[in-house]
Amino acid sequence: MQNYKEKVLEIKKQLKDKILIAAHHYQNQDIIDIADYVGDSYLLAKKASQQEKENIILCGVKFMAETAKILAKENQNVYIPDINAGCPLAKGVSIKDLQLVFDILKNKQNLDIVPVTYVNSYVDIKAFTGKYNGSCCTSSNAEKIIRYFLNQKKKIVFLPDFYLGKNSANKIGNIKTKAIFKKNEININLNDNNSDIDIFLWNSFCPIHQVYTPEDIYNFRDKYPGIKIVVHPESKVEVVNLSDYSGSTEYIYNLIKNSKPGSIWAIGTESTFVNRLKKENPDKKIFSLKESFCKNMQRINLENTYNLLESINNNKKNVNQIIIDEEDRYYGRIALENMIKIVEN
Ligand code: SF4
Repeated sequence: MQNYKEKVLEIKKQLKDKILIAAHHYQNQDIIDIADYVGDSYLLAKKASQQEKENIILCGVKFMAETAKILAKENQNVYIPDINAGCPLAKGVSIKDLQLVFDILKNKQNLDIVPVTYVNSYVDIKAFTGKYNGSCCTSSNAEKIIRYFLNQKKKIVFLPDFYLGKNSANKIGNIKTKAIFKKNEININLNDNNSDIDIFLWNSFCPIHQVYTPEDIYNFRDKYPGIKIVVHPESKVEVVNLSDYSGSTEYIYNLIKNSKPGSIWAIGTESTFVNRLKKENPDKKIFSLKESFCKNMQRINLENTYNLLESINNNKKNVNQIIIDEEDRYYGRIALENMIKIVEN
């Protein structure tokens, strides 16, 4: 009997001109092996939309598939092998709360304020960002997007990831930030004086990147003098400050790939990805700063990918297809295009 990998490869051959499989870096090796593209979330969505293939299979979590759908051409369908592959970070912001914060800061306090929204967010939040003429950002360009709006004398609501906002502000320096929430309650009041605040920070966090502590770094430095530490900027501020480098998944991938043979690394990001880096860089000594796996990413496997391909092959196009509201798509696209304009200028 054929295993799922053989079955996927066979059906992929049959559907050759019609499908494209894009896999996020945090996917298991099985999925990486059957993918046409591997990358971080934004790069994947962008690359997929530049293709002519009718069906895009996004092996990652749902907000990534939504981003691919926003950027896809009219005739392209986007699918995800498990529609329940969510993200607690993205889930940590609701339109209702966001509207409330904007009502106070923009409508009642008359602050010239825009949303800057990390791509790790759902489509309704990206659409809100587009409607208010803000911009999306990625972990590699957050600093540039923030600088752009601050240079225009605008204030920013940065969401949903608290630490990406705070770490980016720290890198710029001389930025006054304020946490929007206190003990999970919105802590922005009409009578507050917010005129000197530059960035208001949402309070959602990635549970995978929040686990690292200064002690993890001290332990590795004690044990391996000369070791280099690199972490994702969704990590805590004190961890980013103690590390040698911080940057996006793509940044970490290239940093390790281009580092000297024999170099020693402890990496603070998702462990499936770190395990792959170890395999692809046998000439370097690589450790996970601490084991931390994203269970949502791991919902995608060869079996559900095969089942999805089979339903596409049988013309059952409604199975696990990403459908988004036209208005959300329109405004979500504006938020993503604003990001591209700012970054490419
Ligand atoms: Fe969400 Fe964090 Fe998992 Fe990425 S690693 S999908 S941000 S929970």
